[in-house]
Amino acid sequence: MVSLPSRRSLFAAALSLAGRRRLPCHHAPAAAQTSSGAGGQAETEGPSGSTAMLRHLLLKLRATGPVTVAEYMREALTNPGQGYYTRGGGIGESGDFVTSPEISQIFGELIGIWYISEWIAMGKPKVFQLVELGPGRGTLTDDILRVFNQLTSLLSKCDVSIHLVEVSPKLSETQALTLTGGKVQSNPEDKSAYMQGVSKTGIPVFWYRDIQDVPPGHSFYLAHEFFDALPIHKFQRTEKGWREVLVDIDPEVPDQLRFVLSPSSTPATENFIQPEERRDHVEVCPEAGVIIQRLACRIEKDGGAALVADYGHDGTKTDTFRGFRNHKLHDVLRAPGTADLTADVDFSYLRKMTQGRTATLGPIKQREFLKNMGIDLRLQVLLQNSRDTETREQLLHSYDMLMNPKKMGDCFNFFALLPHHRFLHPDKKHKPESKSPVSPVAGFGELLLK
Ligand code: SAH
Repeated sequence: MVSLPSRRSLFAAALSLAGRRRLPCHHAPAAAQTSSGAGGQAETEGPSGSTAMLRHLLLKLRATGPVTVAEYMREALTNPGQGYYTRGGGIGESGDFVTSPEISQIFGELIGIWYISEWIAMGKPKVFQLVELGPGRGTLTDDILRVFNQLTSLLSKCDVSIHLVEVSPKLSETQALTLTGGKVQSNPEDKSAYMQGVSKTGIPVFWYRDIQDVPPGHSFYLAHEFFDALPIHKFQRTEKGWREVLVDIDPEVPDQLRFVLSPSSTPATENFIQPEERRDHVEVCPEAGVIIQRLACRIEKDGGAALVADYGHDGTKTDTFRGFRNHKLHDVLRAPGTADLTADVDFSYLRKMTQGRTATLGPIKQREFLKNMGIDLRLQVLLQNSRDTETREQLLHSYDMLMNPKKMGDCFNFFALLPHHRFLHPDKKHKPESKSPVSPVAGFGELLLK
């Protein structure tokens, strides 16, 4: 059990904030939803699931032979012309899948409080770079900025800026609209960013395609449902040893794709399968490993923290590659480019890829993390402040979506990277006899306000 003496007042103040974002999303019946996604461009699917992306892949496969699942996933999601995210993705009630920040404003608010709490625990550094990877529609950062705005007096001496890492031009437009009202400048001079603007609350916002373009410095990183969208390699154990799963043209059915196994081992089977592996089917996401390594290096060198939230496991699951369209499971090989493709995040792999450069916390279940962050208190405040029954019902419904173990409460996890020195009491350097405990990391232990 953990108490938060030094930051108790922050929690009490922040959880009783008056601000309301807007009405939570109305839950439209599935039949009313369209496949074009919220803000995405409709892609028409021919009789056998034929799409521009499928035609592109068929040409490629005819020329080069089978491709890895990672290559297939990268093309389907982020191909610069026809990728699912490139064309806008389908995040939200009217799209293909809905994420926690889109369900309830409380989610982003509690995450905003987490960052402020860590910023205080780290001695209130003068610079506060919030870096979000894969910001979707920009809703999460918008909710975080509302918390920052309500705590202006606390942050008044701090240089706050927002840095968004986003490959999709269409989604970066949506983010710009959400955060700045659309007032942005493309290709700013003297900047590694491809776009910049100023938030509605006066905070500078920058966009990049790669984490490496984000300027160095003390930074807080956020990745919500980002790592699950990165390309995975898939491997199958056979009598002859490990083989990689590949995507090929089905010779039996015209213009259809199928999975095949590599005839022999591949460089990926040699590099990514551990000798002690017990599972028969393994998914590895090397791109996630590289990004986590970069975050760990940056945090080790410049300070800060990273919060990763996603569905996933600790190196135990096998075949989790799946597609979503219109909020329903969708065959991953059918009509590529028209559905979200995703795979569970392997948190044990992420932990390993930090190479001990940072400490790690979690994964901890979403319902535990949000409870520890004070979601029940925040819900009570919003319920007390809302006058009409419909709003109250929607608040309760969205709380249930986030917290119910059968909905998002158990399958989503929180995982954090923190500098090792975060766990050394600053007093210990000067007063080794100091008994006062290091301030705990919010969310990863029970919240005590009394
Ligand atoms: N975080 C948001 C959106 C999740 S969807 C939410 O929770 O609502 C995944 C996001 O990651 C999208 O914004 C997508 O365009 C972006 N993305 C996918 N692959 C990426 C990559 N390789 N680099 C940067 N962004 C990427």
